[in-house]
Amino acid sequence: MSILNADLHCHSVISDGTLTPEALAARAHANGVELWSLTDHDEIGGQARACAAAQALGMGYLSGTEISVSFAGKTVHIVGLGFDHLDPRMQDGLRTTRGGRHARALDMAAGLAKVGIHGSFEGALSFAGNPDLISRTHFARFLVETGVCADTYEVFRRFLTDGKPGYVEHRWAGLGDAVRWIRECQGVAVIAHPARYGFTPTEEFALFTEFKNHGGQAVEVVTGSHSAAEAIQYADMAREFGLAASRGSDFHSPDESHTDLGTLPWLPGDLTPVWELLTHRIQ
Ligand code: AMP
Ligand code: MN
Ligand code: MN
Ligand code: MN
Repeated sequence: MSILNADLHCHSVISDGTLTPEALAARAHANGVELWSLTDHDEIGGQARACAAAQALGMGYLSGTEISVSFAGKTVHIVGLGFDHLDPRMQDGLRTTRGGRHARALDMAAGLAKVGIHGSFEGALSFAGNPDLISRTHFARFLVETGVCADTYEVFRRFLTDGKPGYVEHRWAGLGDAVRWIRECQGVAVIAHPARYGFTPTEEFALFTEFKNHGGQAVEVVTGSHSAAEAIQYADMAREFGLAASRGSDFHSPDESHTDLGTLPWLPGDLTPVWELLTHRIQ
């Protein structure tokens, strides 16, 4: 087993989490995390704060982001770790990726208005710590606050997933672009929570093959989004494709997330932990 308590996936108020980078760092440290990364969606505005907070606590830090990518008609998330967050190639790529969110949110609100839910754009925006990063999660919080649903999971199921009134098809970054930005900036690209996408085996094989061909190097094996059986399944995929393995809670909020920072099972001992590829990038 690889028994470093690394948690390399979580979100702050800079994207769709509810805690500040400093509060997340303190929570991670209190839970025993030794190596941490803040991976806000399509956004690196919290990196300097997260790194400073980790260093003040004596916790190792790797820069991070979670990039939204369109692949085979679905949205796939690619985590970048250990890149130079000041590099303009990463900053420009993420700015472009974020760019369509405002118009998408207006379309989502129009879809919700058709089923009698009004004011959801303004409502979602009031939950967004960063107006450039309005996400489905902020709509979900608004619909919980207004009593339409009991929790955010119910909102996604009834309103925000494919075919539901608030769902809007969206074109994100290309897989090759996201992997290239990460690599050009000295980082490692990681396929996030692969069990979440609902791909057929053929589509999944294509994702892993293309990711590898673009220079992707790792996959999340142990995540808050995977069952024990899924962790075993994706450990096998890591072996088959020669990918390193990552571990991350995907923590968003004390009120919403099932898996807290630093409280995951260990990675299988025969896999290469992703941080072994990034020892020179730990801050
Ligand atoms: P967006 O980037 O705006 O499409 O929002 C995606 C975010 O919504 C994810 O990062 C999760 O935080 C959250 N999310 C997506 N699907 C679900 C779901 N089924 N249940 C709860 N949260 C979800
Ligand atoms: Mn999220
Ligand atoms: Mn994700
Ligand atoms: Mn995430």
